[in-house]
Amino acid sequence: MVNLGVAGKPNDDCGDHEWYNSDNVVEHCYHCAAGQRPYDAAHFHDPATG
Ligand SMILES: [Zn+2]
Repeated sequence: MVNLGVAGKPNDDCGDHEWYNSDNVVEHCYHCAAGQRPYDAAHFHDPATG
């Protein structure tokens, strides 16, 4: 069984946040529910354009 961290322990900090833009207001972590921070476009660079 694979433990994705978010299942069962939604308030645990995964320790290795990987962010996604939820709604242009808040970013969330793929791995845990504890990972939240204000959205900033600068966090999401496009590697094709630098
Ligand atoms: Zn996390």
